[in-house]
Amino acid sequence: MQDCLFCKIINKEVPVEIVYENNKVVAFKDIHPKAPIHLLIVPQKHIPSVDHLEIQDKELIGELFLTAQKIAREQRIAQTGYKLVFNVGRGGGQVIDHLHLHLLGGWKSEKERDIPGMP
Ligand code: 5GP
Ligand code: ZN
Repeated sequence: MQDCLFCKIINKEVPVEIVYENNKVVAFKDIHPKAPIHLLIVPQKHIPSVDHLEIQDKELIGELFLTAQKIAREQRIAQTGYKLVFNVGRGGGQVIDHLHLHLLGGWKSEKERDIPGMP
């Protein structure tokens, strides 16, 4: 997708801090972090949102979650806990139309964890 920001990031046309990459997914730091650790895990394949998933994407979805688990362990937030969020559509807060899983964590307290606009 020519005009998709995340496709450009995946193709290294837009620089980001990549924390993990394989042939199916890329994980990088969010430019406006809403938590001490805020990463975006995106499929290499352009899928606009959860609402556009098809049956053949089943394995890819598993890959996104297992990547989140792996990174959470590496970043040492697995024990304290973290949030995984998919915003779906404008009404759901989605701004970039390329599927992405938000991984948020690293808070020092429950109070610090409360993020405006997040469940
Ligand atoms: P959404 O609201 O679509 O679920 O989340 C999009 C996320 O992408 C936001 O948290 C936003 O901060 C992040 N973002 C937008 N543009 C860029 C960018 O150019 N680089 C990076 N690393 N993150 C971005
Ligand atoms: Zn894309």
